[in-house]
Amino acid sequence: MIYTLPPLPYASDALEPRMSKETIEYHYGKHLQTYIDNLNNLIPGTIYENMELDEIVMTAEGPIFNNAAQVMNHMFFFNTLSPKRKNIPQELKEHLVRDFGSIETFKEQFKQAAVSLFGSGWVWLAQDSGGKLHIIPESNAGNPMRDGYKPLMVIDVWEHAYYIDYRNRRAAFVDICWDLTDWEVVLIRMLQPPVDRITQTVLIGQTTREGLTDAITDAIMEDEKDMRSYVCVTCGWIYDPAEGDPENGVPAGTPFNELPDDWTCPACGVGKEYFEPAAR
Ligand code: MN
Repeated sequence: MIYTLPPLPYASDALEPRMSKETIEYHYGKHLQTYIDNLNNLIPGTIYENMELDEIVMTAEGPIFNNAAQVMNHMFFFNTLSPKRKNIPQELKEHLVRDFGSIETFKEQFKQAAVSLFGSGWVWLAQDSGGKLHIIPESNAGNPMRDGYKPLMVIDVWEHAYYIDYRNRRAAFVDICWDLTDWEVVLIRMLQPPVDRITQTVLIGQTTREGLTDAITDAIMEDEKDMRSYVCVTCGWIYDPAEGDPENGVPAGTPFNELPDDWTCPACGVGKEYFEPAAR
């Protein structure tokens, strides 16, 4: 399998000024690209050649593990960030309070782990098979899925992640990562099956609301207006909140989750439950 640089889910300047375009261009465009190139050079002719990325990360050692895990970890990291400030959804908050005592304690412990990790590595929020949340520092390319944990969120504490914007100030970088973390995405990952039954898509950090109950979707959306477009999975018609559906009495600017319960797809007539967020 030939790996390629996946599309970044936001523009390279979308996280400015907290994370500069230059940082994204180096970190995403050059560092991640190098790990991808290395992996593509290392796997031909080995048993890893036709494996999915998560299988390689779970089973390889040495340079193949290092490069495969760095590819996965970076995709996960960049898919965890969002230019839109996202509050911690209530259901995630409850789990964090249950397992760390309070949100403040969780943040303090996470920051402490990130600042004190010696050398290069990653600090993860991960969930064990019993559902409990843990802060797990990993050196170099480490990923806690190797130990059966499901990754939920991560901060890259390799110096290349922050040196352009923050020089040696890792703590300042950790603080901005808090602000850039998409906590809805973290919650969606938490609601997915344990790591042994999870899909490759989730492990590389992408998330989908597919299969989530309405109650969970509502919980995710309760803190803000959801201005994403939604696509009808039956016919492909796209609901764009900026346009609304004026012919059917829905004014422009109406978020998808505020559409009336009896609203149906204007093209094929199916209900709202047949819509899912359009690709970012
Ligand atoms: Mn990195």
